Amino acid sequence: MKNSVLFLSLILFTSISCKAQDADTIQVAPKPQRIAEKLPLVDNAPIKNVIFIIGDGTGLVQLTSGQYNLVGAEGLLHVQTMPVTGIVKTYSSNSLITDSASGATAYSCGAKTDNGMIGQLPDGTNCKTILELAEEKGLSTGLVSTSGVTHATPASYAAHVPSRNMYAEIANQYLISGMEVILGGGTEYFLPSSESDSRREDDRNLIEEFKSSGYEYVDSITSLKRSESEMLLGLFSPSGMPSEERTPSLADMSSKAIDILSKNDDGFFLMIEGSQIDWGGHGNDTPYVLREVEDFDNAIKAVLDFAKNDGETLVIVTADHETGGMALNSPYGSKDKIEIAWTTDGHTGVPVPLMAYGPHAIEFTGWWENTQIGQKVAELLGVGSLPVITE
Ligand code: MG
Ligand code: ZN
Repeated sequence: MKNSVLFLSLILFTSISCKAQDADTIQVAPKPQRIAEKLPLVDNAPIKNVIFIIGDGTGLVQLTSGQYNLVGAEGLLHVQTMPVTGIVKTYSSNSLITDSASGATAYSCGAKTDNGMIGQLPDGTNCKTILELAEEKGLSTGLVSTSGVTHATPASYAAHVPSRNMYAEIANQYLISGMEVILGGGTEYFLPSSESDSRREDDRNLIEEFKSSGYEYVDSITSLKRSESEMLLGLFSPSGMPSEERTPSLADMSSKAIDILSKNDDGFFLMIEGSQIDWGGHGNDTPYVLREVEDFDNAIKAVLDFAKNDGETLVIVTADHETGGMALNSPYGSKDKIEIAWTTDGHTGVPVPLMAYGPHAIEFTGWWENTQIGQKVAELLGVGSLPVITE
C-alpha cells in the first residue's frame, strides 16, 4: 500500500514537473516600436459613462508577454498608458480560486458568490447588477465579448441563474433586459433546436424575438458597420468567435457599441470582455494568448480614444482572475527572447492588475476586493449602492 502511494505520487510529481518545464519561447519585438504617450490624470468631473473592460484570465504576465512581443521591452501597450493602477483580490465565497461566473458577479453585483453562479448570492437570491441599475436610471447599456455572449462573464451583468451552464435561459433573460447593444459570438443559444447550429432544447428563435422587440440583427462586419439602429444584436459565430483573423475584431465591436450607447445624453454603461485570453491560458498556448492580448489592447485603444475626447467617461480595465500561472523565464544574457512557463491549465489565485483612466480614476489605486471595485464603480456612475438583493 505504502509503495503504491509512493509510486503514484512519483508519477504525479513527474507529470507536474514536466508540465512546469514546458517552455514556449517568444520573440521580443526589436526597438524602436510604437512610442506610446502616457495618459494624464484628469480632473474629477462628474462621470457620465463607464466602460468596464475585463480581460478574462488576464494577469500581469499575460499583459507583459503581449507587450514584449508587440512593442518590445521599452514599449507600452495602450493599456499600459493608463495613468492609475490598482491590484484586485479575486477569491470567491467558496474558493480561494474563482471561476469567471463568481469573478464577474463580484464586479457586476458588488458581492462575492460561489463559483459557477451568475448574478446570484450563494443562497440563490438574485442580486441586481450595475448594468440593470443603469438601465433603470435611463442610461443605455451594452455587452461586448469574443466568447459567446451568454458565456459567464457577460452573463453576470444581465442574467440571474444558479449555474453558468444555463446558456439558453441566459439568452432568454437578455431579451427582457432592456440592453441596447449585445455583440459577440454565440448564435447556438439564440436559434431554435431545429437549426443545425443550435444547442437549445426548445423551438424559440430568439433572433426573431429580438427583432420583434426592436433590435436590428447583424452577423457580419459589413452589416455591423452599416447599422444605424439604436438597438443592436450582433452574433458573429455559432460559439466563441474565431481567434485567428477575427472579424469583426473586439475593437470593431467596441467602437460600434460606443457609437450607439453614446447617443444617450444621460450616459451609458458598457462591459467589454476579451474573453479568450483565458482560453489561451487553459491551453497553455502562448501564441493564442499573444493574439488575444493584441485584439484586447486594440479595443482598449478604441475605448481610450473615445474617453480622451469625451472627458466624462471612466474607463476601468481589469481581470476576473489569472489563468495558467503564466511566468516569464527569460534566459540571462538575452534581450530578444523570453521563455514562458505555466504552472497549471486552470485558474490561479494571484491578484490581478487594474488600470483606470478618466474622472475619479485615482480612487482605484491600492489593493481592493473585486466586490469593492463593483461597488465603487456603481457609486461613481450614480446608479446606486451595491449590493442590491432582490429576491
Ligand atoms: Mg469570460
Ligand atoms: Zn477560465
